[in-house]
Amino acid sequence: METNNVKAFGTESAQASLNEIKIQRRALTSKDIEIDILFCGVCHSDLHTARNDWGGTIYPSVPGHEIIGRISKVGDAVSKFKVGDLAGVGCLVDSCGVCPSCKKDLEQYCVPGFTGTYNGKDKHLGEYTFGGYSEKVVVDENFVLHIPENLDPAAAAPLLCAGITTWSPLRHWNVKKGDNIAVVGLGGLGHMAIKLAKALGAKVTLFSRSPEKEKDAKDIGADAVVISTNAQQMSSVKAKFDLIIDTVPYAHDVNEYIPTLNVSGTIVMVGYLGPLDPMLNTVPMILGRKSVAGSVIGGITETQEMLDFCGEHNIVSEIEIIKMQDINEAYERMLKSDVRYRFVIDMASLKNN
Ligand SMILES: [Zn+2]
Ligand SMILES: [Zn+2]
Repeated sequence: METNNVKAFGTESAQASLNEIKIQRRALTSKDIEIDILFCGVCHSDLHTARNDWGGTIYPSVPGHEIIGRISKVGDAVSKFKVGDLAGVGCLVDSCGVCPSCKKDLEQYCVPGFTGTYNGKDKHLGEYTFGGYSEKVVVDENFVLHIPENLDPAAAAPLLCAGITTWSPLRHWNVKKGDNIAVVGLGGLGHMAIKLAKALGAKVTLFSRSPEKEKDAKDIGADAVVISTNAQQMSSVKAKFDLIIDTVPYAHDVNEYIPTLNVSGTIVMVGYLGPLDPMLNTVPMILGRKSVAGSVIGGITETQEMLDFCGEHNIVSEIEIIKMQDINEAYERMLKSDVRYRFVIDMASLKNN
């Protein structure tokens, strides 16, 4: 298959820093779209993949799955987009299309597995996919999103992972006006969960360990902040919440939040992959018919629904724009939670380098 050379930023090993490299993008097939990338958000998964924290990273690795740009070329059979459109690509660029999940627009739960935007098995070139830390990307039109033109494209980039990751559970558990919702952790995911739940009409409480986050959380839209290390504050919200979205990205104690769930309530994990420590105590789960659930990103149809909702309600992420060359320093700052609340790379810094 014919390919084109493009500039990207990637790493050759788990220990190496990210540097400029050249990668190949496929020449357009009839259903493909080429996007000239303007901005790419920086997700915790990017860092974990670059450093092989989860195992299975294929090098060289080019992360980035919060991609926004302008369409520069379209294949002959493309019908949903045209050159010049503002478009986005999130965490997945392909799936089998025929399994029960794909048939229900749940490509994120594709049974044989979806193709990740990076480090996924590339069905076209036979190797592995490269993400959005790059000048251009080529994607099948069925995995490309329309971005509302009224949104700031840089601040809209994180909607493609952080936004949909929190939107999908809000919709699945049917959050509506007047519901009491809580969010654990105020980071890239948590701040989007607050904005989206609030726009759906819910009353939103943030659980945090840091009293200094209270002002920010309220500025973003939280109605209340409960300091989870304060026993008195925790007992004041006993049996209050229908749904808790837990965005904490490392092993932590989930048991402390269970008493704050209403009967039949659910706490859904979206930020941490791995065994809980300490273990989950089933007693309050059984005695209150409570659930601990998980959820990952969202399907393409649901992602478009979320983007359209954000367009109508003028919702974007809180961001700090960086140059591509600052990515290694940005990773170090992310590990210290020193970002409010998402880094976004201005891809002009790569193109003009
Ligand atoms: Zn992500
Ligand atoms: Zn499938």
